[in-house]
Amino acid sequence: MFVFDERTADLVLDYCRDRLALDPVPLDYGGYATDFTGLLDGMIGPGGNDPEKVLDVFTHSLATAVVSIDSPRFLSFIPAAPTKAALLFDMVVSCSSLNGTSWLLAAGVVAAENQALGVLRDLAGLPEEAGGTFVSGGSAANLSALLVARDTAEVPPGARPLIAVSGEAHSSVTKAVHILGCDRLTVPTPDHRLTGQALAAALERAPGPVVAVVATGGTTNAGIVDDLAGVAEVAHARGIWFHVDAAYGGGALFSPSARRRFAGIEEADSMAIDPHKWLFAPYDCAAVLYRHPTLAKAVHTQDAAYLSAFRTAPRPPGQPPAGSAGGGGEPWNPTDYAFQLSRRPRGMPLWFSLAVHGTDAYREAVDAALATAQRAADLVRATPHTELVRQPELSIVLFRRTGWDRADYDAWSATLLADQVALVVPTTWEGEPVARLAMLHPHTTPDLVQQVLDTMA
Ligand SMILES: *Cc1c(COP(=O)(O)O)cnc(C)c1O
Repeated sequence: MFVFDERTADLVLDYCRDRLALDPVPLDYGGYATDFTGLLDGMIGPGGNDPEKVLDVFTHSLATAVVSIDSPRFLSFIPAAPTKAALLFDMVVSCSSLNGTSWLLAAGVVAAENQALGVLRDLAGLPEEAGGTFVSGGSAANLSALLVARDTAEVPPGARPLIAVSGEAHSSVTKAVHILGCDRLTVPTPDHRLTGQALAAALERAPGPVVAVVATGGTTNAGIVDDLAGVAEVAHARGIWFHVDAAYGGGALFSPSARRRFAGIEEADSMAIDPHKWLFAPYDCAAVLYRHPTLAKAVHTQDAAYLSAFRTAPRPPGQPPAGSAGGGGEPWNPTDYAFQLSRRPRGMPLWFSLAVHGTDAYREAVDAALATAQRAADLVRATPHTELVRQPELSIVLFRRTGWDRADYDAWSATLLADQVALVVPTTWEGEPVARLAMLHPHTTPDLVQQVLDTMA
């Protein structure tokens, strides 16, 4: 069990090589087309199985019962399009048993992850001293950041803190507010976009102390970027923590044309960006960044006798690499910037891919999806039976098929998947069922969009 076995290695590595080489990746079917009865019976017992048999079940029965989220035909939720380099390096991370908790144990990967975080920091325009860590997803990033906001604020004893959000904020923000024992101050928004003015008006009527405001840099349902500059100004004039949830939209910071929509993000006290969405990293990878990491460290540091060595680890001789100094001159420990302790250094696949391909390639890949979304909007407008709901800002396109109700959309969506054309599930917009295309795979083409529209005739 703990000895290298050549045959198992070949089996698994061959599988990985074949999966990586698929072009295009087949869309496959998800949970509806496979009969699981008996499939896994006896698979785990006292005696174990031949690895070839186990891998065979995975290859032919389990992997096919998963819709390929990295297929260019996956146009729902938020798709994924990890680079091959990032996927390959994820295997290196696995095979190396890396624990990226502390500088003491893992300085090599912490320095590299901090370099990748530095790219995101610079795209956002945060100051040089900003920093954070990679966590499992936007949900964990939002929760980690809002905990710092709550614990940093001064709240009168007995008062229940409020966190200001718009109705378009992601469900994970609602959940974080609940976990933190706060209440939501829901800000009514003109045209689904949180603005400084709307925030200011809501703050006038706030029934308690507001400790943070969450603005969204690319709403998940429609790709709308809030008025970040306006929200920042109002928040900071009142000493309120300004968090930007750019879990989906953050990748668009790479595009100079889209970057303008994010003006004001550089004022954020904290932000979340999911590289496993639009920065082409494998799951699970989300960045949480803080303007003042020392504030986060004061909140998140875990205190235990057996962990004290993390704080006093010897510094490297000579110039410490960028990002090696945590608050108070202690070594930089990623555990200090989110609620977890042990952590997979999940920023490493992103780091490797950025280093291999360079940032220009990322800009081009992000621009490709932005352009396809604009083209898709044109195609929707030009198709007689479809209507655009609103001009896309990023890479999500909402449109309606005239005359359809929810059941029509659902039946159409099921047929599209059964025919392996695309995965497109409907959403709701202003109470009405509509079709939604979410794209970020650079190989999702306007031709495919046209193919999808044609099926609605
Ligand atoms: C996807 C998303 C999240 C949640 O991120 P996970 O990585 O799924 O946890 C949060 N906020 C926004 C805006 C998102 O699009």
